[in-house]
Amino acid sequence: MQQTVKHDVLILGGGPAGLSTALHLAQLAPELIPRILILEKAHYPRPKLCAGALLADAEIILQRLGLDVNEVPHVDAVAAHLDFAGKGLKISLPDTHTLRVVRRDEFDNWLAKKTEVRGIEIREGVTVRDVLPRENCVIVETDVGIFTAQAAVGADGSNGVTRRCILPNALVHTARVLEVLTPPYSTQKPSEFGNGDEGRERIAYFDFFCVPSGIAGYTWDFPTQLNGQPMRCWGVYDTNILADMQRPALKQPLLEEMARHGFDLNDVELKGHPIRWFSPKNQMSVPRVLLAGDAVGADSIFGEGISIALGYGALAAREVSESIHRGDFSFAKYKSRVLRSALGQTLLARWAVTQILYRLHWRWFQRFFWRSMGWIISAASWVLVLNWGKRMPSLYPNRPGDS
Ligand SMILES: Cc1cc2nc3c(=O)[nH]c(=O)nc-3n(C[C@H](O)[C@H](O)[C@H](O)COP(=O)(O)OP(=O)(O)OC[C@H]3O[C@@H](n4cnc5c(N)ncnc54)[C@H](O)[C@@H]3O)c2cc1C
Repeated sequence: MQQTVKHDVLILGGGPAGLSTALHLAQLAPELIPRILILEKAHYPRPKLCAGALLADAEIILQRLGLDVNEVPHVDAVAAHLDFAGKGLKISLPDTHTLRVVRRDEFDNWLAKKTEVRGIEIREGVTVRDVLPRENCVIVETDVGIFTAQAAVGADGSNGVTRRCILPNALVHTARVLEVLTPPYSTQKPSEFGNGDEGRERIAYFDFFCVPSGIAGYTWDFPTQLNGQPMRCWGVYDTNILADMQRPALKQPLLEEMARHGFDLNDVELKGHPIRWFSPKNQMSVPRVLLAGDAVGADSIFGEGISIALGYGALAAREVSESIHRGDFSFAKYKSRVLRSALGQTLLARWAVTQILYRLHWRWFQRFFWRSMGWIISAASWVLVLNWGKRMPSLYPNRPGDS
């Protein structure tokens, strides 16, 4: 049945970017709450292929929204190892966990419920088919009918329809990613690392040994849980920037890494999903429609996108609320404001490091870098990867430092 509903803001996609946009809008402009609608194609709790590692900035942004992620089932990693073929650098944060690992079905469901509690309507099971910006409104065609609004936020992820509708010819940088869940180390036979790899259970591993073979990325191995049972999440990430080299199939390095620890990939189900990553060339808006989260681009070094999506939500909300108050929906300054923000600065810096680090793919360089440059990597992580959440715009309009 066709239906036409007029809202101020339609948020297309109810993942971290869309829900964060809604939560920030509710905080910045509470008068808009009844005029915001989120359209989500799935029903919560919905599956989402993701390792679920939250960096500290995700927690900072959630805390600023008055949300406590401790309410979500999680496993904390006490340290992260950044290695080349099993040896490298250990990073840990003083007095706290280094990574918190959630299951995305549980995390997104929790965030959606928090959004609804604040009075924002989420229409589940509605698939957006087309997004048509017009001079006076934006028209969103879905499988249940047509919605119109003053503005729309495309937060429908790496494969989202919004970007394809509003920017059909835009250049897209897409990483290949594979992921698999296994039982924990303690269930495995002794491996080259000892009996059941004790001591590894609370550590998150990133290993860059695959770069010399032309995979511009890393394999990961994180602690996680499924229905309260300890598990490991393994995966491999490839930015694709060495795509012109002869490369092994993406499965190969993951197979090797898991085999070193006594796991057999043939016993488990492997799943893949692309990640669109940030480049300063990525377009972010057209009049009446702006993009947030993976629809713009995740971090390019690691494919880290949850905290990034939450951060985009803060920026998209500020842009939309100001546009409504001004009555100007050109979104002409959105990209420059994103790039100047603390989120934009970390994304730009990580993009620059990606271009250098993965293009210098020689074995000797990668081995030297990960095994001998520990202090540089630690300092760079502190400045480039962590702590941008604290410098994001305030949640209240017209405060100094918000521009
Ligand atoms: C294998 C893998 C592992 C990852 N591991 C990590 C990690 O450990 N840590 C990390 O920080 N990041 C990780 N990421 C990246 C992270 O998952 C994304 O960056 C993050 O989910 C982006 O959030 P988002 O809200 O932009 O998009 P999504 O989470 O993709 O949300 C988009 C939402 O839009 C909905 N939607 C899509 N199309 C439509 C439509 N047509 N109509 C209506 N709704 C629609 C979807 O159902 C979904 O709910 C990983 C990604 C992959 C693929």
